[in-house]
Amino acid sequence: MTHILNADLHCHSVVSDGTLTPEVLAQRAKDNGVELWALTDHDEIGGQARAMAAARAVGLPYLTGAEISVTFAGTTVHIVGLGMDPEHPALVQGLRATRGGREQRAREMSADLARVGIPGVYEGALKYVDNPELISRTHFARYLVEAGVCRDTNEVFRKFITEGKPGFVPHRWATLGDAVNWITQSGGMAVIAHPGRYKLTPNEEFALFTEFKAHGGQGVEVVTGAHGPADYVKYADFCREFGLVGSRGSDFHSPEESHTDLGKLPDLPGSVTPVWDVLQSRIH
Ligand code: AMP
Ligand code: MN
Ligand code: MN
Ligand code: MN
Repeated sequence: MTHILNADLHCHSVVSDGTLTPEVLAQRAKDNGVELWALTDHDEIGGQARAMAAARAVGLPYLTGAEISVTFAGTTVHIVGLGMDPEHPALVQGLRATRGGREQRAREMSADLARVGIPGVYEGALKYVDNPELISRTHFARYLVEAGVCRDTNEVFRKFITEGKPGFVPHRWATLGDAVNWITQSGGMAVIAHPGRYKLTPNEEFALFTEFKAHGGQGVEVVTGAHGPADYVKYADFCREFGLVGSRGSDFHSPEESHTDLGKLPDLPGSVTPVWDVLQSRIH
């Protein structure tokens, strides 16, 4: 495939914390000129069959995907998997286990918010949840906007449900090694999602890339909705330094909330080998 390709290999549907169905996303991707697409719901492959069928129906090449929540250096890091067999038992069981603690965490988040005078947030958030196994902080944010506590979801994440703020409950997700192994055992490629977003020290970030590589990880998102030009340069350099290929994805969640729409991203820097060069045989 060509180096310059409108690939969008990171987005979310109602199967996790997006607001559109896999079918509507496929059509939107096609309409926006996307040439290779992957749906990467959080900790969940339940939307993959629908996304693949919808992509085929609109003539859009497709890679399977998921975004796995990982605990690393005391913080949450996301690892995107691309091109897996979504029925592989190691992947299915690993993701099920990763989803497992969300319900309890949500109840504790709600109890903590009640302590600062905001009651009923668990019940309110549930109205926004499609997949009962995937209650996310994003659903809490949508309800807190509806309840008039904040003007928009960005304000919620500034004032609540993040480290040090009311409603935040620390959570232990998958280990880095497990997440990379589930992806590679099921035939896929592991990719570090939006590295520019993490609050890691330079030493911790070096450890993340070194350990990721040692576990068999192969890629990193260079161009993504949360990155700016300085990040494109920095992570293109990391590709060379660590021998990784580069990915590109909007991390689109919702027309109302996301500032980067499907396929509306700068091209991958010319120095970076694109993930789609390595994943050719996995494209549907
Ligand atoms: P969870 O997996 O339940 O911890 O929720 C994480 C999700 O919350 C992310 O995937 C984003 O969709 C959303 N999120 C996290 N931090 C922010 C933020 N600062 N602003 C907007 N959305 C955020
Ligand atoms: Mn999300
Ligand atoms: Mn993420
Ligand atoms: Mn994401």
